Amino acid sequence: FKKIDVKNPIVEMDGDEMTRIIWKLIRENLVLPYVNVNLKYYDLGIEARDKTNDQITIDAANAILENDVGIKCATITPDEARVAEYHLKKMWKSPNGTIRNILNGTVFREPIIIKNIPRYIPGWTKPICIGRHAFGDQYKSTDLRVDRPGKLELSFTPADGSEKQTFNVYDYKGAGVGMAMYNTDESIKGFAHSSFQMALQKNMPLFLCTKNTILKKYDGRFKDFFQEIYESTYKKDFEKKGLSYQHRLIDDMVAQAVKGHGGFVWACKNYDGDVLSDIVAQAYGSLGLMTSVLINPNGRTFESEAAHGTVQRHYMQHLKGKKTSTNSIASIFAWTRGLAQRARLDGNDRLLSFAEALERACVSTVEQGIMTKDLKLISGAKDGWVDTFEFLDAVRDNLNAELHKSA
Ligand code: NAD
Repeated sequence: FKKIDVKNPIVEMDGDEMTRIIWKLIRENLVLPYVNVNLKYYDLGIEARDKTNDQITIDAANAILENDVGIKCATITPDEARVAEYHLKKMWKSPNGTIRNILNGTVFREPIIIKNIPRYIPGWTKPICIGRHAFGDQYKSTDLRVDRPGKLELSFTPADGSEKQTFNVYDYKGAGVGMAMYNTDESIKGFAHSSFQMALQKNMPLFLCTKNTILKKYDGRFKDFFQEIYESTYKKDFEKKGLSYQHRLIDDMVAQAVKGHGGFVWACKNYDGDVLSDIVAQAYGSLGLMTSVLINPNGRTFESEAAHGTVQRHYMQHLKGKKTSTNSIASIFAWTRGLAQRARLDGNDRLLSFAEALERACVSTVEQGIMTKDLKLISGAKDGWVDTFEFLDAVRDNLNAELHKSA
């Protein structure tokens, strides 16, 4: 096998606990023996973040802006318990949040489909790729309790000194609750571009869901921007690939999705995406089979990771010298999706084929019945799983077989 040369770098972000152990094995055994790639390494492990006062996270995000492609291992988001456990200087913010704010994109979660892993919705034979518009709405709203009768008003004061507008929201006869929330044209347009880019990359149709029959102005704005941007920028490319874009009412879409076979990109508003991404993840079975990628509206800047966390419980067992059976598939896909994006941007066909071969190797390993405990259990078995390291060895054997086949 002639090693594949990669012209441009990939930003590699290391992480914590069990996933850190797996991450290194993927790099050393499944990637570097086959690919000559300049990995710009950033250690986002909790100790390094603490030592650098979290500067390393910001540096890593800026490196992605510069190099377009980043891949990330799961990291600890500290809470009180973690601050005590690692003697941290501060309860550092979620690295994912910090990176997302700097990269300014939309996160899409997509399950890995494997034939012999049952799904709670058996009809979902193709993946549903869910994008959540993680800006504004309920998450940045102002909510209040009202404790007596009175009038709730909403007012807008223009910065240019023109006349203030006031809207009557509700006349309370007694106690109650109220809320105001917002979004911006800029963010909605960015969300639209990221969603169209994702659908083109995935070769899947795109649906945007809103409740524009009720929120005519608010959700209507989402619908209108998506439609305008589709027609001005993406329609030709969609039609060339035989893809479609449609707006749907959220309630119609949920009903259709449950009856359908998957195979689409689903652009969701912030709250809908929060709820639906968890429903979809559960319906497809395992957290260990959920991938997550962030894509900037420019379609180039890209970060991929597993959707799950650091699998702390397994790490504790590992430290005690006990056997673990941690599923490494989503972490491997964090690498392959990053390699594939690098391949697309660089026009590197061999690299793209390699990424696809490594993904097929994961799937065929499981299809051969070689699984970690989480997958064995959902496939109904009570034993017969392999440990963390045996699984990775089996993937390597299947990868070599895949590469041999294509050579
Ligand atoms: P987790 O995803 O690590 O684990 C949740 C549950 O799912 C556990 O029962 C675990 O055993 C199981 N699980 C998850 N991934 C698995 C895998 N690959 N193989 C087998 N079983 C798997 O989430 P948690 O326990 O809530 O959090 C642990 C740490 O991870 C926390 O410090 C949290 O801050 C962090 N976290 C990070 C990210 C991220 O970096 N993207 C996401 C979520 C949680």
